[in-house]
Amino acid sequence: MPYTAQCPDCGNARALFNHCPHCGSEHLPILDSDTVEINIKQDGPYVEEVLERLTDYLRKSIEVGIKVIVLIHGYGSSGEGGRIKWAIHNALENNRYSDRVDEYYFGENVAYGSDAYHALLKRRPSLKRYLKRFKEGNSGMTVLLLVSQSRSA
Ligand SMILES: [Zn+2]
Repeated sequence: MPYTAQCPDCGNARALFNHCPHCGSEHLPILDSDTVEINIKQDGPYVEEVLERLTDYLRKSIEVGIKVIVLIHGYGSSGEGGRIKWAIHNALENNRYSDRVDEYYFGENVAYGSDAYHALLKRRPSLKRYLKRFKEGNSGMTVLLLVSQSRSA
């Protein structure tokens, strides 16, 4: 995961969420991009945890001014990975996050080089940094375009 965040207190590179591992600061980090990648399945959480965690990540992301999240949720026809993907798709389609997510693009629908891909990149050129994620359609990823802070306040 590329580190795009900097601690406002000690200046070290740090992850987006939680406290700074260097100085323990709980202040929100300074970002060098409005686009970030989040791997939500990193530590093997359960589905319900993932959905709650995503709510929290969305709130904090909007707070620090993030506009686009490349959400890595994995895939699979069975097992927890598949359930997480299904739950996230389902939650998005049922507007669970509609107060914070303006638009979303399932990875399989924005294959590298496709019309949908070009349209998305034109709107959010900062995604170029994540080109290799798109592949020939990456079903383990969803791109979230967040609402702007003023609208969510
Ligand atoms: Zn720090």
